[in-house]
Amino acid sequence: MTALLRLAVPNKGRLQDPTAGLLSQAGLIYERTERSLSAPVANVDIELLFVRAEDVCEMVADGVSALGITGLDLLEESGADLQVVAELGFGTCRLTAAVPNASLMQDLGELEGMRVATAHARVTGEFFAKQGIDVTLIPLRGSVEVAPKLDVADAIVDLVSSGSTMMVNGLRPIATLLESQAVLVARRSDTGLTDGQQQVVTMLQAAVAARRKRYVVMNAPQEALRAIEEIIPGIEAPSVVPLAHNGKVAIHSVVDAKDVWQVLPRLKEAGATGILVLPIESLIV
Ligand code: AMP
Repeated sequence: MTALLRLAVPNKGRLQDPTAGLLSQAGLIYERTERSLSAPVANVDIELLFVRAEDVCEMVADGVSALGITGLDLLEESGADLQVVAELGFGTCRLTAAVPNASLMQDLGELEGMRVATAHARVTGEFFAKQGIDVTLIPLRGSVEVAPKLDVADAIVDLVSSGSTMMVNGLRPIATLLESQAVLVARRSDTGLTDGQQQVVTMLQAAVAARRKRYVVMNAPQEALRAIEEIIPGIEAPSVVPLAHNGKVAIHSVVDAKDVWQVLPRLKEAGATGILVLPIESLIV
C-alpha cells in the first residue's frame, strides 16, 4: 500500500483564497468545511492539508505532506532545504528594506551599525551578512512599519506589494532583498518526483500557464491570413477553418494575456472581424 499523497495549503491569510482559486481552476474537486484540517480530493488521489502558510514548509520537510503551496519568502525564512517545483504567479511581493522619509540614507551600506526591525529575521540576517553590513536585528512579529516611529529601529525590512502601507507610515524603500510569489514546494529527491507528485504538479502548472494566455478566435478573408499569422503566430501555428460561406476562414490562436489589448486593433486592421477573446482553463505545452 502506498502512502496517501498530501498537498499542504494555507488555511488563512493572503494566500488562502488565491490558492483555493488555483486548485479549483486546476480541476481539483473537494469540499472544505469551516474548521476542517484536511479534505480528500474527489477526482485525484490526494488529500489537502489546511495549515498556516508559515507551517507549510515544515509539513513538507517532515514528510507529512509530499507537496505544499506557500510564499517563496516563507520558504526562505523557514530554512528548509526544499525544491521549488513551480512558481504559481500569485502572492507576488518584495521583501524590502526601508528607512523613514526624513532619513538621509540612500544606500544599504549606510545601515552599518543600525537597528533593523523585521519579521523575516533569517532572510534579513543572511542578506546583511552576505553584504558585509553589520546591523542589529530587532525581530518583531507584526506592525514592523511603526518600529522607526517608536524609535525601536532605524530601518525596517518588510514585505511590500503596492508599497502603500510603507508610504502611509512615512517610509522610503532603499533596497529589495527578495522577490517573492506563491510557489509549489517538494522535498529534494535523487529519484525525482513520484508519479503522484508529478500529476499534481502538471495540473497546477497547466492552470498557471493558462492564466498567462488567451484563446483568440476571429473570422477573416483568406487573403488576410498571412498578415494575421504574423501578428499571432500561436503556440505552433494558428488553426484555420474554412467558413461555409463568403470565402472566409475562422482563425483560432493563443495569445499572451498581457499582449491581447495591443494585438486586437492590429488584427482588426489586418481584416479580422468577430474577434472573440476567451479564457483558457488549462494549458499543457
Ligand atoms: P499571511 O500572513 O498568512 O496573510 O500571508 C502572508 C504571505 O502572503 C507572505 O508571506 C507572502 O508570501 C504573501 N504576500 C503577498 N503580498 C504580501 C504583502 N503585501 N504583505 C505581506 N505578505 C504578502
